[in-house]
Amino acid sequence: MRPGEHRFVVGEVVEMKKPHPCGAAQWEIWRTGIDFGIKCLGCGRRVMIPRKKFERQVRRVVSPAPGAPGPSRPPGPPPRER
Ligand SMILES: [Zn+2]
Repeated sequence: MRPGEHRFVVGEVVEMKKPHPCGAAQWEIWRTGIDFGIKCLGCGRRVMIPRKKFERQVRRVVSPAPGAPGPSRPPGPPPRER
């Protein structure tokens, strides 16, 4: 994913390019801001990571935060492909 492509919110589960040493590659976001806080879904370890680094390491969003209206899409008409 490109940086800035997605607006991350607390509660979302993301898959990172590099798995945690425990073997799990999925993390839940528990804090957003300049630094992101993420919790490993394999072992429960919480770490803080700078936003820039986090965005580079995310492979994909696994599940949106509870209550989010489906896949993230900006309001208004969908962007056209060229
Ligand atoms: Zn882990």
